[in-house]
Amino acid sequence: MKPSTLCVQAGWQPKKGEPRVLPIYQSTTFKYDNSEQMARLFDLKDSGYFYTRLQNPTNDAVASKIAALEGGVGAMLTSSGQAASFYAVFNICEAGDHFLSSKTIYGGTFNLFGVTMKKMGIECTFFDPDSSDEEIQALFRPNTKCVFGETISNPGGHVFDIERFARLAHANGVPLLVDNTFATPINCRPFEWGADIVTHSTTKYMDGHACAVGGCIVDSGNFDWMSHADKFPGLCAPDESYHGLAYAESFGKMAYITKATAQLMRDLGSIQSPENAFLLNLGLESLHLRMQRHCENAQKVAEFLRDNERVAWINYAGLPEDKYYALGQKYLPNGGCGVIAFGLKGSREDAIRFMDSLKMIAIVTHVADARTCVLHPASHTHRQLSDEQLREAGVAPDLIRLSVGIEDIEDILADIRQALDNM
Ligand SMILES: *Cc1c(COP(=O)(O)O)cnc(C)c1O
Repeated sequence: MKPSTLCVQAGWQPKKGEPRVLPIYQSTTFKYDNSEQMARLFDLKDSGYFYTRLQNPTNDAVASKIAALEGGVGAMLTSSGQAASFYAVFNICEAGDHFLSSKTIYGGTFNLFGVTMKKMGIECTFFDPDSSDEEIQALFRPNTKCVFGETISNPGGHVFDIERFARLAHANGVPLLVDNTFATPINCRPFEWGADIVTHSTTKYMDGHACAVGGCIVDSGNFDWMSHADKFPGLCAPDESYHGLAYAESFGKMAYITKATAQLMRDLGSIQSPENAFLLNLGLESLHLRMQRHCENAQKVAEFLRDNERVAWINYAGLPEDKYYALGQKYLPNGGCGVIAFGLKGSREDAIRFMDSLKMIAIVTHVADARTCVLHPASHTHRQLSDEQLREAGVAPDLIRLSVGIEDIEDILADIRQALDNM
């Protein structure tokens, strides 16, 4: 089935007499007839629900919808996008390991990789995605376990050359992990370009209504862990916490996502609540319609800003003069996302005056939902950083992140126009 149909139909397949709409299984636990049945579940010999921290039917239906949209073999929901990014890497890296990440990624992920995971003994080297193949190749070490990047970076709007980084990762015997939050599988399916694992903050477009924080990890099933067994003992060697079972041997293409669920979710928690999964599913049912409108509106706003004399610069891959236009045409032929990064002529104060003059468009920390919203990272999310530190983190001090919603384009443009006139 096509993505639009999957948005509406995939995941929950009711049998005779069951609810047409995905029910919220608001239950921590599940009943069995005897002790032996339960024991087999704990040994991973049978599959079935026993405790919602590991699996829940509502969550599984939504995870399988996202897996279908991405073209993966399996998926797991997490309580947030942060948990998804952490588990995705931690599932294959342990203390003493190293991995590579693009430096143009979401600030929360940058901190997770550069500061918090470092305290766990896992080292991340951030690379400039515009570096040459030779420069990237030189960063690989014998203990490098994966490469990470964002399809469209938050907040800069850079497009990641997935096919190129998949080739570099595979040449070094490691998988490519891609955070596909901003593009969503409606506009890009990273597995088709060689990515092995996809992560999402479902908090953004997938929910789309700013009502539930959540995340997801999707496994393509394509990475051959066994042919690099020495690099990935967590997947290929016996797990003592499951009587010596080896995931890659027992679960084949499902090894990575089974380990993430059976081991990481079991031990660390961070499950998405079934109620949030239900809300996420409602969002997914209209994702294809909303993404189309977000992109149409953002394209018009980007063209308007580009042509306005008060605007100093703009990043939007849909503009032919954008640095990432060619990559955008390759990976995002139907449009990228609704998020635009731009700077105004003048000082930080001018940027603040512009934002304070907006009437319909609200200043919020959130991004990528139905309502148009705006944020000035230098004054808000990245407030503690000096201009120098901001530039190092890839955020221009004057960068305004405008998340274009699905309202009528005339109303969005009118609000931006009057705020610019007010500066
Ligand atoms: C928001 C975001 C995250 C983190 O997700 P949360 O759901 O807020 O934890 C990760 N990656 C990207 C690209 C994001 O925009």
